[in-house]
Amino acid sequence: MKTNSYKECPVGDAAFCDADHFQAGRQLLQRPLLPLVRLVHLLFLTGPFTTLGELLSQLTEPLETAGINYDRPADLLAPHLTALRPLEALKDPASEAKKITILDQHDHPLPAMEALAMQVNQAVLEQELEAINSLLCGPCRCSLCCTGPTEEMRQLFFEIPLQPEEANLMALPQIDTPASQARDSATEPPFELHGRPFYQQPPAVYHWRAGWSMILPHGSSCPQLDDRGGCRIYPARPKVCRRPQIFAYILECDEEAQSSQDPPVYRARHKLLAVWDCPYVQVLQDEIAAFAQLSGLEPIFRTNKN
Ligand code: SF4
Ligand code: SF4
Repeated sequence: MKTNSYKECPVGDAAFCDADHFQAGRQLLQRPLLPLVRLVHLLFLTGPFTTLGELLSQLTEPLETAGINYDRPADLLAPHLTALRPLEALKDPASEAKKITILDQHDHPLPAMEALAMQVNQAVLEQELEAINSLLCGPCRCSLCCTGPTEEMRQLFFEIPLQPEEANLMALPQIDTPASQARDSATEPPFELHGRPFYQQPPAVYHWRAGWSMILPHGSSCPQLDDRGGCRIYPARPKVCRRPQIFAYILECDEEAQSSQDPPVYRARHKLLAVWDCPYVQVLQDEIAAFAQLSGLEPIFRTNKN
């Protein structure tokens, strides 16, 4: 593997990158949690523990697995206890842990034990990557995720999905009409306002059939982006803003295979996605690929915005 150099900083500030402001995030990339989660899964299954809390209380010594040293395994896993909790169903048939169906590439449901492990791994990895992405994004002084496309880009707008309770975080007009709720941003012909497509209007928050989103047309930016490229509501930023630009893709929700009555249906993907537009993904490509492989996942790098 080549050693990353910080001489070719994609944000155009090589001196800044040379100072390695990514150090804290890189340390987490070098110590992925999923190998430890796999070991804990095995210990819980084979040991005399009825709860994960009991097991964690016994993990007082450093552990080594998959060539990685974990100095304080219980402390590392404590913030992920809720995500790990479904594993307790292995010892408690009456557990009310939500059971999900995961289909393989042949549309066959995976065995329950395997599905449970994947469900837990996805939840832990999402939390782990939220911390890593936050550590890596700040030093980049980049606002790509918070602005609409530039004139050179082929996209007409960028869309930031919002939870219903997040719609009011943005001081923007809200378009919530029977016509908007009858379609989505990708519906053709496009939803029109005042005789023009929605993406030729100023930024706004729309209530679509699939839910709420903020639409940022060409040359616009999120109203919460400050003059120095920071987020004014960083601690309370929307859920989707917490997850750029390395994603857990162990499972994917299968919209077609489920109905509102059924338990959730997912597809097994076994991947980690990293978006190439992001400066830290470009600088840390090798570390991200190694992190994915140690986590038992295939790393996929792709471009989203061009
Ligand atoms: S809420 Fe903050 S992080 Fe999210 S798009 Fe706006 S400025 Fe960016
Ligand atoms: S592209 Fe990367 S560095 Fe830029 S704002 Fe998004 S997550 Fe942060």
